[in-house]
Amino acid sequence: MDCKAIEREIFRFIYGEGDADRLRRIKAHLDVCGHCARERDIITGILAQLKDGYPDDPVPAGLRERVLASIRIAVDG
Ligand SMILES: [Zn+2]
Repeated sequence: MDCKAIEREIFRFIYGEGDADRLRRIKAHLDVCGHCARERDIITGILAQLKDGYPDDPVPAGLRERVLASIRIAVDG
């Protein structure tokens, strides 16, 4: 799997969605790719903060996209 594929599926991995084989392959990539591992760390950090701030609220629609967009800026810039 390449970084683009990981980027599309990283939320699945974080939430543990999808089949086990796919999640294993994503994890294998994260183990060897610092770029994607950093992205995973940023996302899990943001999600943890959101959960602390709004424990009873569901994640709003469109949030994943906004988070991913801000990460792209953080990583590329
Ligand atoms: Zn990667």
